[in-house]
Amino acid sequence: MSALIIGRFQPFHKGHLSVIKMVAQKSDSIIIGIGSAQLSHTFENPFTAGERHLMISRALRYEGIDNCYLVPIVDINQYSLWVAHVESMVPPFDTVYSNNPLTRRLFEEAGYEVDIAPMFDRHIYSGTEVRTRMLNNGDWQSLVPKGVAETIYEVKGDERLRQLMGDSQ
Ligand code: ATP
Ligand code: MG
Repeated sequence: MSALIIGRFQPFHKGHLSVIKMVAQKSDSIIIGIGSAQLSHTFENPFTAGERHLMISRALRYEGIDNCYLVPIVDINQYSLWVAHVESMVPPFDTVYSNNPLTRRLFEEAGYEVDIAPMFDRHIYSGTEVRTRMLNNGDWQSLVPKGVAETIYEVKGDERLRQLMGDSQ
């Protein structure tokens, strides 16, 4: 059985990792769709799809999780075609894990099994919280797996975010 999880992963954090660990126990393989792949260099979406690919693959390697396919998926902004678009980009899957009502509906209408992905300490483990702490020079490192922090330092992602918000001008 193969599972699909889609997120923007801006950046990938320990909440995302917990879901993947949970799903990995129930599935033969997991497809991680890196959504809004075309976006980068904004506060909401600071990292490129390539940078997100690197941070996720490193984090999974450190965890010894080797049954995931990472696939960037660009937005098409037409909900009626979204499932077909995703299907055209990723290996076959049976179950979709999502809490987003629209995502759930679209995949259910297309005949997929849709399951709830439990939230882990959502008040601290969210992309928004990580980016906000990065902007304020707070402790964002503890919210992300080691491979993610390494990647962000390599691409100077924290500096990028602060500059995007006008702090270093
Ligand atoms: P942002 O604040 O930028 O929207 P996010 O943390 O919501 O970031 P996304 O990439 O938007 O991350 O979300 C992808 C999916 O990851 C979400 O639909 C949600 O189901 C799941 N997710 C996000 N945070 C957690 C968490 N703490 N625990 C479990 N799943 C999470
Ligand atoms: Mg979100």
